[in-house]
Amino acid sequence: MTSQVAIVKCPDYRQPTVDRAVRESIDLLGGISQFVQPGQKVLLKVNLLSATPPERGIVTHPAVVEAVVKLVQEAGGLPLIADSPGGSVPYTEAGLRRTYEASGLLQVAERTGAALNWDTSYEEISHPEGFLVKRLEVIKPVLEADVVISMPKLKTHVLFTFTGATKNLFGVVPGFAKAVFHARMRNVTHFALMLLDITSLVKPALVLMDAVVGMEGDGPSTGPLRDVGVILASRDSVALDAVATGIVGFDPLKVPTLREAAARGLWTGRVDDVVTLGASVDEVLVPDFQPPSASPREDATMGNPFLTRHFGPLITDHFTLRPVPQRGRCTACGDCVAGCPQQIITIVDSLAVIDYDQCIRCYCCHELCTEGAIDLERSWLGSLVHRVSGGR
Ligand code: SF4
Ligand code: SF4
Repeated sequence: MTSQVAIVKCPDYRQPTVDRAVRESIDLLGGISQFVQPGQKVLLKVNLLSATPPERGIVTHPAVVEAVVKLVQEAGGLPLIADSPGGSVPYTEAGLRRTYEASGLLQVAERTGAALNWDTSYEEISHPEGFLVKRLEVIKPVLEADVVISMPKLKTHVLFTFTGATKNLFGVVPGFAKAVFHARMRNVTHFALMLLDITSLVKPALVLMDAVVGMEGDGPSTGPLRDVGVILASRDSVALDAVATGIVGFDPLKVPTLREAAARGLWTGRVDDVVTLGASVDEVLVPDFQPPSASPREDATMGNPFLTRHFGPLITDHFTLRPVPQRGRCTACGDCVAGCPQQIITIVDSLAVIDYDQCIRCYCCHELCTEGAIDLERSWLGSLVHRVSGGR
């Protein structure tokens, strides 16, 4: 079947407005009964990157989660809200509590009776169909669910340009194993392939994106917020991400996951080929939505095995953005120290200090720093080449 993506306008997070938009988007796909049967365990895989309030625009908004919970319950399903948050929040009961409280999901559970996941166990499973990743650790509740509903948030990402449905599923990997993946998958193309492998393993029945307020610029933690005003729904993570990038005016083939998905024949590479229901992409287009400052062209350079092997450190230093902690903004909280897969950040004199010789430019530290204290800077040579080659 040709992939369909429902687009429904949703101007704000008032609960009745969100309830209507979420219902309408799922109805356009045939209604909740197409996805949930009575008695089924339904896991809502939200984006809980950090323990931050919904107004920061980092996590899936609780109003959207509540709307989906109510529909699942209406269909007779048993909703369970789950995620393994980003590296700054340990995947422990205490870490989950901190995240649920800050994000408003504790209150959603209290209001609706939905369950929150407290089980921090995981299992290593094999994925023979995986293109790159044949074995991986997955959190237990995902493996035990009858149905997975993926609930990403529309945000930019300094490394992937865009983080949506495909990237959201990285949260099924338990906390510590994420860091290992970052260290293993140094090449962005490999990382994108890994995300597609996780998507094909988890196979969410439904993807519902919170694109009411998105994040532009250097997301996914500290970019400026931007009204996008829509809820998107689809059976297909790749098709939904493609439409979302179309709405914010990005070239989908510059998003590593979408580029690799097209190369693997998971979609055609043209947003126009995706069937939209409800509003059209043109109707909800957001002009001048700011991409991240990192150019995807840098991915191609880093992906060249010869250059990487022989000139890796030089290329890394000059042709990638360097994460630079800023005195004055750094509170020495240590989140980046805990989340760095290379374990090369130390706190010296109340400032995070990075050993650049071993930095793989995964930008986990930038992603995890909710103080916005890590700037991404280019060397003089990198800036020159970037300008000459037409980078922005
Ligand atoms: S840079 Fe400073 S404020 Fe940011 S996560 Fe690291 S220690 Fe915390
Ligand atoms: S310092 Fe930052 S960018 Fe470098 S390896 Fe550590 S987390 Fe990744």
